[in-house]
Amino acid sequence: MAAVSVMTKQKKSKPSLANTLPEMRCDFCKKEFKREAAFIAHMCRYKKRFIDRDLQPNRIAHMAYVMFYKSSHMQYRKEPSIENFINSHSYEDFLKLGNFIVGINAIATKEYIAYLLKSNLPIRDWIKDDVYLKFVLNLNRTEDWQRAVERSIIEMEKWAIKNDKTFRQFFIDISPSDAIHLIATGRISPWVFFLSRTGAELNSKLSPEQSDLLSRAINIQFWRKRILTEKKTVSAVSAFLQDVGL
Ligand SMILES: [Zn+2]
Repeated sequence: MAAVSVMTKQKKSKPSLANTLPEMRCDFCKKEFKREAAFIAHMCRYKKRFIDRDLQPNRIAHMAYVMFYKSSHMQYRKEPSIENFINSHSYEDFLKLGNFIVGINAIATKEYIAYLLKSNLPIRDWIKDDVYLKFVLNLNRTEDWQRAVERSIIEMEKWAIKNDKTFRQFFIDISPSDAIHLIATGRISPWVFFLSRTGAELNSKLSPEQSDLLSRAINIQFWRKRILTEKKTVSAVSAFLQDVGL
């Protein structure tokens, strides 16, 4: 009988003993630890998410999550914190979007996210190339020429550094298929391609297949019409491109 009572006593005193020890509990999954080494070595899905929070795809994912909550009708009084995000059941979907955006090196990330939220597309479509390209097509048509030209010149500078050339050689030396790809993905604006002397020269050298590919990406008819009708913009862009030697 005595042995039993001692055991019971030990059992009862156990929680109070634990309370006097420094708490070693994972803040994320609430798992408790007796040994410090095990606590430090512990890794769970949520802790991993926290550790990865400053990686570029994860930051974009968090930004998209915040934008999603701000745009939705959900009654979120406060901006969702990183903890809200880490614990969200949509975390993986938003991370996929972050990875997609980083993977394609998307232009205008914030605007792309806003576009997705406005379009009411299902989440699985957010990481589809054709959805992104449609956004680019739309952005090409609506953004200020100054911004479009600036982005194009930055892209040309990057190309120049990589190829040990100057950005003025961009349309002269780049392969037509690389140029078409950069135009289709919004890195080089149609304004720059059509209105620069070097761009126009490259345009005149495209094969019918290449012209067709470009047309499917940016709708050449639309741009022809635009160049004929938006005279003020056309002369501003042309003058600028001439000034910088393109
Ligand atoms: Zn944990």
